[in-house]
Amino acid sequence: MIRLTLAQLEEINTQAERAYPNECCGLLAGIRVPDGTVTVTRIVPSPNVLIGEGGRGGHDRFEVDPQVRFDLMRTLHGTTEGIVGHYHSHPDHPAKPSEHDLDMAFEPDLIWLITTVVKGYAGKTRAWRLNRNTGETKSLEMEIA
Ligand SMILES: [Zn+2]
Repeated sequence: MIRLTLAQLEEINTQAERAYPNECCGLLAGIRVPDGTVTVTRIVPSPNVLIGEGGRGGHDRFEVDPQVRFDLMRTLHGTTEGIVGHYHSHPDHPAKPSEHDLDMAFEPDLIWLITTVVKGYAGKTRAWRLNRNTGETKSLEMEIA
């Protein structure tokens, strides 16, 4: 299960709408407890490095800026928080992993949050775990506090 606040969810929705018709993306910092529950502590936006000049097009895929990840790892160093996942939007596509997403799922421990954006308006967000090796996509329960 993944726990988020309503404010965090709204922040993701805002970014998803701003990025439309491209995909927004960012990292999720949080705390894991032994029963597998993850509580998100920070939403860290990233430029989608696939948008714009030199990018392969950010309307159906995304890539988090490695610098954003590096900076976040430094910020979290020595705290109880870690990088627990990332989020991105699906412009005019459902909030479920695409084949390309599964192909990019190199880290099975990370949670994927996917927000659908329909005609510019953010819709449902769903949480997933993806495993590239097994081809498995598993929907996770979300708790909004
Ligand atoms: Zn995707």
